[in-house]
Amino acid sequence: MVSIITRAQQLIAPFNNSEYFIIPNAESLKNKIELFRAAGIDNFQIVSDFDFTMTRSLVNGFQGKTSVTIAQNTSSSLERQQVISDLINYYTPIEINHQINEGVKAQYMKEWWAKSSAIIIQDKYDQKELEKVVDDSNVYLRYGIDNVMKICEDFNVPIYFVSAGLGNVIDYFFRSLGFRLNLKIFANYLDLDDEGKLTKLSEPAIVSVEKSKVLQGMKLKSHILLMGDMISDCTIVQEGNYEEIIRIGFVNNPDTANLNRYQENFDFLILNDGNMVAVEKILKLILSNHQETDEAKNLLLHELNLN
Ligand SMILES: [Mg+2]
Repeated sequence: MVSIITRAQQLIAPFNNSEYFIIPNAESLKNKIELFRAAGIDNFQIVSDFDFTMTRSLVNGFQGKTSVTIAQNTSSSLERQQVISDLINYYTPIEINHQINEGVKAQYMKEWWAKSSAIIIQDKYDQKELEKVVDDSNVYLRYGIDNVMKICEDFNVPIYFVSAGLGNVIDYFFRSLGFRLNLKIFANYLDLDDEGKLTKLSEPAIVSVEKSKVLQGMKLKSHILLMGDMISDCTIVQEGNYEEIIRIGFVNNPDTANLNRYQENFDFLILNDGNMVAVEKILKLILSNHQETDEAKNLLLHELNLN
């Protein structure tokens, strides 16, 4: 019998059983969940980073691609691979260095985006060609992401992605999975030029350290579930723009991450490039409100190590 593997099945990683959780303050998180339940579905939304938050950072033991490196078509030539990895090796240490002033860092990040987007533009993709490159890329969305998206769709929960990556690619992933209705993607985009080629860059460029600017002044729901893999992702939603916030952090490589800083900034940490199952459980706790039995609620709390 021939088994048909759907695009969604190809895109989603298998369950990663080496994940584990850290909850810096279980009491505080439980209280927050109660506040979210009391506020109700209409006052709730998700705000999230995309690269290495929705996607796994390792794919079959190798460093995964980002929405930008996918479009850079790294498989096209060895020379191009070298240029791209040189850029990553030069700019990543700057991006994660906490000693560098944010303004200076932002300039470096803009320089990085200018160089790396120039590589994408060289290929002069039309929409279909870009989609083909994405289809051929070896990317894993986290296990359980489809359930998380389905719950949000069913309950009409808005999801805002704020990414310094490439919006065209992020958008295509979610369309491939069949989810699009309740999503907004704030990212860098390639727009079509007069010849129907994707060569025009959206302005201003969104860079990782300036994500806090993206939603500034925008009316958000009062209760926000925020997800990210970098500590700077915590600043995507600024104080004053929410009443309550639950921050879920993905620590993809606990050996190299500054765990203390992650624990200071996030309410729930998923370590070792884990799954979306815990996110689904937290969502169920928030959204089921008072319909479920105490038993079901306690089971979810128990599964999350919260009681
Ligand atoms: Mg990220």
